[in-house]
Amino acid sequence: TTVQTHDIRKRFLDHFIRAGHTEVPSASLILDDPNLMFVNAGMVPFKPYFLGQQTPPYSRATSVQKCVRTLDIDEVGVTTRHNTFFQMAGNFSFGDYFKREAITFAWTLLTNSVEDGGYGIDPQKLWPTVYLDDDEAEAIWRDEIGVPAERIQRRGMKDNYWSMGVPGPCGPCSEIFYDRGPEYGKEGGPEADEDRYIEIWNLVFMQNERGEGGGKDNYEILGPLPKQNIDTGMGIERVACLLQGVDNVYETDLLKPIIDLASELTGRGYGRGAHDDDVRFRVIADHARTAALLICDGVLPGNDGRGYVLRRLLRRVVRSVRLLTSASEAAGVTPRAASEPTMGALIGRVIDMMAPSYPELEERREQIVSTAVGEETSFSKTLAAGSKLFTDAATATKAAERSTISGDDAFTLHDTYGFPIDLTLEMAAEAGLTVDQHGFTALMAEQKSRAKADATARKTGHTDLSVYRDLLDRGPTEFTGFGELVSEARVL
Ligand code: ATP
Ligand code: MG
Ligand code: MG
Ligand code: MG
Repeated sequence: TTVQTHDIRKRFLDHFIRAGHTEVPSASLILDDPNLMFVNAGMVPFKPYFLGQQTPPYSRATSVQKCVRTLDIDEVGVTTRHNTFFQMAGNFSFGDYFKREAITFAWTLLTNSVEDGGYGIDPQKLWPTVYLDDDEAEAIWRDEIGVPAERIQRRGMKDNYWSMGVPGPCGPCSEIFYDRGPEYGKEGGPEADEDRYIEIWNLVFMQNERGEGGGKDNYEILGPLPKQNIDTGMGIERVACLLQGVDNVYETDLLKPIIDLASELTGRGYGRGAHDDDVRFRVIADHARTAALLICDGVLPGNDGRGYVLRRLLRRVVRSVRLLTSASEAAGVTPRAASEPTMGALIGRVIDMMAPSYPELEERREQIVSTAVGEETSFSKTLAAGSKLFTDAATATKAAERSTISGDDAFTLHDTYGFPIDLTLEMAAEAGLTVDQHGFTALMAEQKSRAKADATARKTGHTDLSVYRDLLDRGPTEFTGFGELVSEARVL
């Protein structure tokens, strides 16, 4: 029998409780932090302690934190290891233990036998990395843990140096990767191939103080901190994927049942060699789960900020279901999803799977389901309305003996009917047409700069406070603006 995700979570907490850590429950995905759209790492709720703004009531803590990373949205279903919602297990030391203990704790949990409370991973499959000049961490891995020197790689600032992006604590990291074997890629350690060597755990050694300066790696390091801290994050879904011997995180025990249900409803098979179908199934499972967890923590579908992310996720589920359904119909099968809504069933299955670890999902089951179903209903209307305009545009294009749907039409579909551009692209392809994407992008950009000018006008006029609220909702840290805006049409 393989280890279930709930058990992986519990083993983690038990391991660190035995080692004197206080268990801290997961915080909500929504914290009152203007810099952050969603909690995206286990350390976020502990920030005030690391920044020295508050004194922690314990010197060692452990948690399994709900995380959402919208920046990974395009990776979902395409790589084997990225969820938009995932659970980050962590152990934290506030001025207590440092590198030696952090490395030893991680190693023993990963490699101890299942009988001894560990995960029973073969030590030969594990590859640690250290920061370029971190001889101390390297020596611990090599001389105390006994990892052969050739399996320890040194990496630069981008991968192995951490800060919060603002003046405050910073320091080198040591990450642990698992070798999935030659069928997953080329040899040579994580430096050579991060699909074959899967990152499972990041150990952050907060030992220095960061000064001013921009970005992830363009800042001054002022000197050592008076007190050193530890922050670690292990991905529960990734460990589940490896221990359960499945190909990707979407096929682990808490997500595969959602894929199975989607397969039943849409009449398409999963894992039968149709790559596009499989990606859609993985998107459905991942996004339905993230949506349920977000609604549970108080997010409602909306047109900006967090609400917009939720809307995008739910719409992507609806669209993926529809595309799978059409594929079935094209093959002569009429599945249930052709005549019934599916969101309620999918979200219900998510709650069944996740409630044992997050009982609040059960408590709010009805509200979560009805919110998601409401979005499904309204988006289905949008799709129905837009489809008529699309057909008219396609017919007109062909009648004029052209093969390209104009940027104007694509923009109207998007702007007036909320019609996602990738749907326009796909339907155009089905009709043997292309879309003037440059024209579309130009019109989108024009609209954005108009909106921005409006917002600035309102801001300087000090009349409309909603502008400030809007900016706060977005927050600079995750809503990095450009990337998100550029990808929003594609992602919808
Ligand atoms: P990657 O390089 O694979 O994108 P990362 O370096 O961005 O991962 P960290 O920020 O170091 O990840 O987060 C700590 C741990 O959380 C990772 O080692 C991984 O196990 C897990 N993790 C990070 N992002 C995801 C995700 N999108 N889905 C599932 N697990 C994740
Ligand atoms: Mg990442
Ligand atoms: Mg990484
Ligand atoms: Mg990392």
